[in-house]
Amino acid sequence: MKKFTCGDVVAGCSRTFEAPDSDAILAQVSGHARFDHGLVDVPAELVGQVLLAIREAA
Ligand SMILES: [Zn+2]
Repeated sequence: MKKFTCGDVVAGCSRTFEAPDSDAILAQVSGHARFDHGLVDVPAELVGQVLLAIREAA
């Protein structure tokens, strides 16, 4: 499993995501970014930051 903490990229956000792979994390994060952070399209730079911040979850 992979884990991503939104606060690693967006200061002050406490949402966390877990999924079997990075693509599934990105899918969840893009929906979260749209609804909770007002980002209609997630910029490529932010996608890169998300990928770097994804950790292995036990
Ligand atoms: Zn967030």
